[in-house]
Amino acid sequence: ACELALEGVGFRYRNGHDAVSDVGLSLGPGIVGLLGPNGAGKSTLMRVLATLAKATTGRVTWRGEDIARKPDALRNELGYLPQDFGVYEALSAREFLQFLAAVKGLPARGVADRVDACLDMVGLHDAADRRLGTFSGGMRQRVGIAQALLNDPALLIVDEPTVGLDPEERVRFRHLLAELSAQRLVILSTHIVSDIEASAGELAVLTGGRLRFHGAPEALIAQA
Ligand code: ADP
Ligand code: ADP
Repeated sequence: ACELALEGVGFRYRNGHDAVSDVGLSLGPGIVGLLGPNGAGKSTLMRVLATLAKATTGRVTWRGEDIARKPDALRNELGYLPQDFGVYEALSAREFLQFLAAVKGLPARGVADRVDACLDMVGLHDAADRRLGTFSGGMRQRVGIAQALLNDPALLIVDEPTVGLDPEERVRFRHLLAELSAQRLVILSTHIVSDIEASAGELAVLTGGRLRFHGAPEALIAQA
């Protein structure tokens, strides 16, 4: 089933720069890797998909609804980990997630259980009460995933999550996203092919804001 559809999507910044041009994609469940070099337009496209920026041309639909007209239809089902995600170092992981749950407006009832469940999912159960200032880069990224899972999203968007991680943390992160994709659509952007070639069911390759390839990873390798 195609849940997220892009038709002729473009985004032009106010200075006139076309960061994304004429992207068409239909995405179902599983992991989709958005691959492209720095400056390709990945972050811009992900902000459009996360309803933080409005496409300047074309349209994006989620379960058939235009997200520019009905952003809440998507927002309620969306988890987003931005590239520049930061944590409050003085808080524990549990306190920080409880704070974010309140900011996101999740109903107070059941929040404590939901926070613990999210920390479990990302393997931070044992570190729940430690100050975030003591966390490694990989652990911080897992906190980032945990906050994106608070509302049990059907669509999870993660922007360059492996930047700054060591090889072991990268592998661990890859496995986590593979697990999470069993029940949801995960869109992962990266400029590192090895981050996604093994786990992505589909690849979308962006350069200069344009979609150059969309299909199975094997098809891209065969084409190269
Ligand atoms: P705007 O919506 O006006 O572009 P921003 O706050 O996004 O406002 O950016 C402010 C200015 O900085 C803009 O004029 C933009 O051209 C420039 N800018 C910001 N980020 C980048 C970038 N990554 N590459 C090029 N220019 C950028
Ligand atoms: P990626 O995530 O693939 O590195 P981005 O979406 O961040 O690419 O950027 C795509 C293009 O848009 C780049 O050329 C970048 O310099 C430009 N850009 C990013 N932000 C702005 C901005 N605020 N204003 C103008 N241009 C920008």
